[in-house]
Amino acid sequence: MNTPNASSQAAALERRCVLVVEDNALNMKLFSDLLVAAGFAVVPARDGREAMVAARRRRPDLVVMDIQLPEVSGLEVTRWFKADTGLADVPVLAMTAFAGMVGGEREARAGGCDAYMAKPIVSARAFLAAVRQLLGDPADADAGLFSTLAPERARLRVAR
Ligand code: MN
Repeated sequence: MNTPNASSQAAALERRCVLVVEDNALNMKLFSDLLVAAGFAVVPARDGREAMVAARRRRPDLVVMDIQLPEVSGLEVTRWFKADTGLADVPVLAMTAFAGMVGGEREARAGGCDAYMAKPIVSARAFLAAVRQLLGDPADADAGLFSTLAPERARLRVAR
């Protein structure tokens, strides 16, 4: 199995995996594009049930968790992760609507989230910096990416 295709598949499997739990398709694309550009493999999930199925199939290195999800909130899904012995130590980056959540950061952290970002405006650089910090990566890991990123892409207008 030394075909180029097989070796590129092997490389993809070695990439660290970020599970993105997000019900808004535009947000999903924004976060996924950034993470892939930064060298991560992305597994998408639209709700808590999909997230748990995906995480048990392949343990992610990090979870990007929208708090405003249909049916079961991202805070509750985070509690499921933290109650699962195999997933409890996977860091969770909460994404939530600033205006919709008084004391949002406190609530996110109390719910087990390891870090917190406020929507609807997210800095691409701050987003990846939060990801890198949670993974223990060097702070300048994405310096090359941002040296080529067009300024209008640096600030992301995302939906809640
Ligand atoms: Mn949402």
